[in-house]
Amino acid sequence: PPLYRQRYETVKGILNDKRWSPPFSSVVEFGCAELAMFPYFKQLANVTKIIMVDIDADLLEYNACRASPLTFDYLCPRATPLHVEVLCGSVADCDARLQGANAVVCIELIEHLEMDIVEKLGETIFGFIEPEIAIFTTPNSDFNVLLNGLDGKFRHYDHKFEWSRKEFQDWTNKITSCYPQYQVEISGVGVPPQGQESVGHCSQLALFIRSRDYSPRVIKDSAEVYNVCRIYDHPMK
Ligand code: SAM
Repeated sequence: PPLYRQRYETVKGILNDKRWSPPFSSVVEFGCAELAMFPYFKQLANVTKIIMVDIDADLLEYNACRASPLTFDYLCPRATPLHVEVLCGSVADCDARLQGANAVVCIELIEHLEMDIVEKLGETIFGFIEPEIAIFTTPNSDFNVLLNGLDGKFRHYDHKFEWSRKEFQDWTNKITSCYPQYQVEISGVGVPPQGQESVGHCSQLALFIRSRDYSPRVIKDSAEVYNVCRIYDHPMK
């Protein structure tokens, strides 16, 4: 499958991993764009709440219907509830509705952010939401030598940076030293061709895991600062 689908499958596989006990019931995705990850979230039987966030109101307006119930969902309703919120806002801001989320997902988001927003993203996710896990994917610039026609530039015109494996690891280390309740596991998606393994994966992935002994702070001062684009409650048996 193409790389983007490998990323979605990998993220779904992590969320579905048996080692999370109890299984996650709520997920937040920042930078949800065309809501392409939504069908994968929906397949997670234990997830009853999905919050999709993007800063681009037009993009959300055009794509939010992808999170609406399908004819199939009415014909074969779920055994469990599914509440979906599509919200317009920035990962730099803390919205009260994000509190209590078990897992946060950011697929190919951070490389689109200016450094001051990357800093704030850390505060929002690890300081405010404090999920049990957070998953990030971003291009691995060490892999770029295999991509023809890049011309020393980035893979996408909107990328503000592309990190090498070392730079990505430095950032994850900064997060875990700032928020010591988290540990990180780094992996990747998109295997390099045979004989070129030294460049690593095409996308790099960081999985932050909160320590089991750590209890998140319960009350955090916050307001609902994001704009609601759509709210859907999927049919249930
Ligand atoms: N996650 C998507 C996927 O896998 O299909 C792709 C993400 S796209 C490359 C990056 C997205 O991040 C864009 O839709 C953009 O609008 C969004 N974005 C940029 N800055 C943001 C911010 N500060 N907060 C939330 N989303 C942001």
